[in-house]
Amino acid sequence: PPVVGVLALQGDVREHLAALAAAGAHARPVRRPVELDAVDGLVIPGGESTTISKLVDIFELREPIDKRIAAGMPVYGSCAGMIMLAGEVLDGRPDQRGFAGIEMTVRRNAFGRQVDSFEAPVEVTGVEGGPFHGVFIRAPWVERVGDGVEVLGRVAGGPAADRIVAVRQGNLLATSFHPELTGDRRLHAYFVELVRATA
Ligand code: GLN
Repeated sequence: PPVVGVLALQGDVREHLAALAAAGAHARPVRRPVELDAVDGLVIPGGESTTISKLVDIFELREPIDKRIAAGMPVYGSCAGMIMLAGEVLDGRPDQRGFAGIEMTVRRNAFGRQVDSFEAPVEVTGVEGGPFHGVFIRAPWVERVGDGVEVLGRVAGGPAADRIVAVRQGNLLATSFHPELTGDRRLHAYFVELVRATA
């Protein structure tokens, strides 16, 4: 099975490790560059993107992760992880920095103006079996995508209807919601399959 790491600096690391294992991967926490070297793919968890950004520098992981992304390593980011993969962040802290990632503009804490946390169904292109039960916690949404970005999912209804919340560009995948907090392993299975196909 593919070896998939979870960036384990802050956030819901355990939930992603469990979801990846259930989806058939060898799942491992990644805190050091040597641990990054040993994985075929990486998950950036939900949490707090400004904190993760700081810790990435403190743990000297920024350049190694940028390099692996440039070399084609699959990465999946949920929520704060989506923000870390965005080329541009609105309402971010001035000092927060993401990776060389997806050509998109995300707005941090976007839904917060309406509702801090909420749940809504999200249909994801390429994943069969009906909509995801999307769990959104101070989540970003995607305001703009570049030409190379495929929109995989939008909020199905409610005040935030049609907002883009799932995207893919090449081997980079991102969702505003947290499938790792539900028992639904289809998105992790989709990612593990992408890692298997790439490794
Ligand atoms: N609001 C958080 C941030 O800005 C993301 C929240 C989450 O990951 N659940 O990073």
